[in-house]
Amino acid sequence: METKRPTTPEAEEILGGYFPVLDHGFVALVDYMGSDEDVERAARVSYGYGTRKRSATRGLVRYLRRHRHTTPSEMVELKFHCAMPMFVARQWIRHRTASVNEYSGRYSLMPLLFYRPELEHFALQSGSNRQGREAAASQPLYEEAVDRWERTRREASRDYGWLVGEDVARELARIDLPLSTYTQWYWKMDLHNLLHFLSLRADPHAQWEIREFAGTMAGMVKRVAPLSFEAWLDYDLGGASFSRAELGALARLLEPESDGAIRVRTDGPEGLSAEDLEQVGLSSREVREFGAKLRSEDLPSFELDLSRMRTAEEVSEKMEEALPDSLE
Ligand SMILES: Cc1cc2nc3c(=O)[nH]c(=O)nc-3n(C[C@H](O)[C@H](O)[C@H](O)COP(=O)(O)OP(=O)(O)OC[C@H]3O[C@@H](n4cnc5c(N)ncnc54)[C@H](O)[C@@H]3O)c2cc1C
Repeated sequence: METKRPTTPEAEEILGGYFPVLDHGFVALVDYMGSDEDVERAARVSYGYGTRKRSATRGLVRYLRRHRHTTPSEMVELKFHCAMPMFVARQWIRHRTASVNEYSGRYSLMPLLFYRPELEHFALQSGSNRQGREAAASQPLYEEAVDRWERTRREASRDYGWLVGEDVARELARIDLPLSTYTQWYWKMDLHNLLHFLSLRADPHAQWEIREFAGTMAGMVKRVAPLSFEAWLDYDLGGASFSRAELGALARLLEPESDGAIRVRTDGPEGLSAEDLEQVGLSSREVREFGAKLRSEDLPSFELDLSRMRTAEEVSEKMEEALPDSLE
């Protein structure tokens, strides 16, 4: 059936396709409303589609993003079906501007699927960042951890199966399933809030596991609204904001000219040491963070690998197989 609704061929290509994330998780774009043109339409409060050139749409989308004129991007919506370990869901659910409906462990049986980190992501506690991981852990330590995880999960699965088998209410049978257990939800958000979510969760400071989900969703946004995605990458994820003290430090080194050029000041210092920066009011941590902002890092392309896309049937079969009935 033909639709009068605006669609994007790149988004249509992946619509309803399931992209694996971690060992048992996934993200699927189940629906979307609008694209970059709708951001423009809303901004101009215009009557109809499409006589404007793509370059004009791009210019406007980028202007809106730079100047934080955000409400036009609330006119675009994306709806996802996602499965993630519960500890990831707990971080994810903090984003309050989504509409969410989670799989009910009170009503339905929980598939007994548990997240097991790969060796390459199994690391020791970071010394500098209390919320992070740092050096790689040894293989023997990893193997011991896997053994312990598997033991706990076998026991939790057995007890869950037993409780359900004894007809104990599902809402109680589930209470000792570990945080590594996968849950699922439908999750819908407008583009403005979604890009905010991605700024926080595709960022290297976010836990690696949720970043894997955010990266897949970013790949989907790229297909729904490529110009908004590009502006987000340029001004948000790949950009940075500077404090007054940081700008003051930069102004001591660089000088904007009236012809638009920026030149190194001839009347200023050759450089600023960490002590100089502390003297203009930056704490030692801010000095480190300032340096990090100026180091330009390569960003991922967020391109989806279509060869990994699965059908809904394949994914639901895997979930069915993991239900406790199939436990021995
Ligand atoms: C790296 C990292 C570490 C974190 N560590 C912790 C932690 O240790 N403990 C912890 O509890 N949380 C932690 N969080 C969660 C964090 O504090 C936020 O709750 C989460 O990122 C959601 O951000 P948000 O409120 O901007 O997003 P959303 O909930 O999606 O809200 C989007 C925006 O809407 C506005 N908004 C929404 N609701 C309200 C409201 N009620 N009042 C005012 N404005 C509102 C705000 O402008 C907000 O930025 C962490 C997050 C990250 C990314």
